[in-house]
Amino acid sequence: MNLIKVAKLIFEYTKYGEEGEVVGTSRAIDNVSFDIQKGSFVAVLGHNGSGKSTLAKHLNAILLPTEGTVWIGEDDTKNMDALWDIRQRAGMVFQNPDNQIIANVVEEDVAFGPENIGVPTRDIWTRVDESLKAVGMTAYRKKSPNKLSGGQKQRVAIAGVMAMKPDCIILDEPTAMLDPHGRQDVIRTIHELNRQEGITIILITHYMEEVIDADRVIVMDEGKIKMDGTPKEIFSQVEQLKKYRLDVPQVTELAYELKKEGIPLDDGILTIEELVNGLCQ
Ligand code: ADP
Ligand code: MG
Repeated sequence: MNLIKVAKLIFEYTKYGEEGEVVGTSRAIDNVSFDIQKGSFVAVLGHNGSGKSTLAKHLNAILLPTEGTVWIGEDDTKNMDALWDIRQRAGMVFQNPDNQIIANVVEEDVAFGPENIGVPTRDIWTRVDESLKAVGMTAYRKKSPNKLSGGQKQRVAIAGVMAMKPDCIILDEPTAMLDPHGRQDVIRTIHELNRQEGITIILITHYMEEVIDADRVIVMDEGKIKMDGTPKEIFSQVEQLKKYRLDVPQVTELAYELKKEGIPLDDGILTIEELVNGLCQ
């Protein structure tokens, strides 16, 4: 079943001159169509400026299409009456955790979203309990967010979105400002939410290692979808990825170079284990 449907989406930013007058438009999304299956884990890759954030902002109606249509479930994002429903169903997590945390106490921060949409108090605290547990932050519930590491703050931000009981969470480079340990924790957390809670995940990233375990990888360049497939299918095409200024995971790169030197290996090797098996055959 499709949770999200994007059809012939075009988005143009308006360009303004020095006096604030309109001097033209620039196209950030150029005729993009795709569906997202309920329960799937989809990674979106692309070089800076390829249109990933602009696309993400269409998935919870922060931006509305210049042309084309975006549906979340049955709702067209252009339908203003459905706005809060859409925002509740498709939650966003951004790059900088500091910009997403509002309250002075972790549990209050997580409660903020459901409070805002009028969830009854008793249910709010059940949701806060469940969400903090799901991201592994229960022990920090009474703490000040200021005292947390970047990765912990990002998990609190994810708990805040979870407390809204969304069908889908869209994360726009959520690990870009984190150290490797924080990155791992966040990525593990969103995989658990996907597997255990059945929440659909759209992960925008430029860390190749974060993409390996996704169900599906979409590659964007110049506002278009250039590749769309399983991690194995995508990372089999090393030359093409390089054309879009993307790297491949280190193991994939090594296997690719060995293969070029004449060692018989499969395309799209993603793990050390696969490489070792390939070499020992
Ligand atoms: P990505 O997230 O992949 O780096 P973006 O969606 O941020 O890409 O940007 C896509 C294109 O749109 C880029 O050319 C960028 O310069 C342009 N753009 C992004 N935000 C704005 C904005 N607020 N106003 C004008 N142009 C923008
Ligand atoms: Mg971006």
